[in-house]
Amino acid sequence: MSAVTPPVRLSIVVPAFNEQEVLPEFHRRLSAVLAQLEGGCEIVYVNDGSRDNTLAVLHELRRNDPRVALVDLSRNFGKEIALTAGLDHARGEAAVAIDADLQDPPELIPELVKQWNEGYDVVYAKRTERDGETWLKKLTAKLFYRVIKRVSHVAIPEDSGDFRLLSRRALDALKQLREQHRFMKGLFAWIGYPQKAVLYRRDARFAGVTKWNYWKLWTLALEGITSFTTAPLKIATYVGVAAALLAFLFALFIVYKTLVFGDPVRGYPSLTVIVLFLGGIQLVALGVIGEYLGRMFTETKNRPLYLVKDLYPSE
Ligand code: UDP
Ligand code: MG
Repeated sequence: MSAVTPPVRLSIVVPAFNEQEVLPEFHRRLSAVLAQLEGGCEIVYVNDGSRDNTLAVLHELRRNDPRVALVDLSRNFGKEIALTAGLDHARGEAAVAIDADLQDPPELIPELVKQWNEGYDVVYAKRTERDGETWLKKLTAKLFYRVIKRVSHVAIPEDSGDFRLLSRRALDALKQLREQHRFMKGLFAWIGYPQKAVLYRRDARFAGVTKWNYWKLWTLALEGITSFTTAPLKIATYVGVAAALLAFLFALFIVYKTLVFGDPVRGYPSLTVIVLFLGGIQLVALGVIGEYLGRMFTETKNRPLYLVKDLYPSE
C-alpha cells in the first residue's frame, strides 16, 4: 500500500463463508451506515474458502465500491482464523469485526465508533436478547459463559460475540497473539486496555444457515476452556487424589470386616465396581491431558495461521 493512499479511519472486517444470499443485502445496509460516519472507511471481506458463489459476489461488490478490500484465503480455515486474516489486513485506525449474516446489526457501528472516540480501545457489542435461537442454545450459551468466567483468569464478557471495535493499539496487540487455537472472545479479553460494552438485540439470521451445530459449539467451548485455563488438569489431579483416598478408606474397611467377620470368597461385585471406577477416572484424566497435549502439538508446528490465495486491497 503506497503512501498516496488516503488514510483509512475505520476498517470493517467481514469473514464470509458461503454467504452469497446475504452479502448484497449486508453490503447495502453497511454502506448506508458508513455514509453517516466521518473519515475514510474500508470494508475488508474475507472469503473463507466458500464453496458457493460468495467470491463472485464479493468481486462484484468490489467492482462497484472502491472501499472494498478482498482477502481470498486458500481454503476454509474457520471463522476465527478468517476474522484474524481480516484484522491483519485492516489498515484503519480502528477496525470493526462483524458477521456477514446480519445477526450483528451494522446500525450499531456508529455507537461503537462513538465509544471509541471517547477513548475506549475495545468496544464490544453485548446482546440483550437472542432472537431465532432455541432455548437449549440460549441455555448452553449462558452456562458456558458462567463456567468460563469461573475457571479462567481472564474475565470474558458474557453474551458478547466477535462483533466489536478495536483501536489500532488493540489491533496491534492482537496481532502478536499468533496461537493456532484461537478463541477470539478470550483473546479480545486477554489484551486488556479500556473496554466498553454497548447493548443491542441480536437478530435472527437474514438468510442462509448457521454453520454452527452443537458439536461445533462444544468444540468451541473446549477451545475456550483449554486455551484459557489449566483448571481441568488440576481437577483431574484432585479427582485422582479423592478417588485414591476413598479407595484407602475402603481398604481399611475391608481389612476390618475380614478380621471381624471373616471373608468366605464374595467381594466380586465390589471389586468390579472399583476397577471400573478407577479405570474410568484414569481415562478421563488421560483424555484431559490429551486435549492439552494435542494443542501443544499443533502449536509447536508453528505453521502460519492461514494462507492468502489472492489479495485485493481497497483503493
Ligand atoms: N464464517 C467463516 N468461516 C467459517 C464459518 C463461518 O468465515 O468456517 C463466517 C460466516 O460467513 C459469518 C460468520 O463467520 O459471517 C458467523 O458465522 P455463523 O453465522 O455461521 O455463526 P453464528 O452467527 O451462528 O455464530
Ligand atoms: Mg450467524
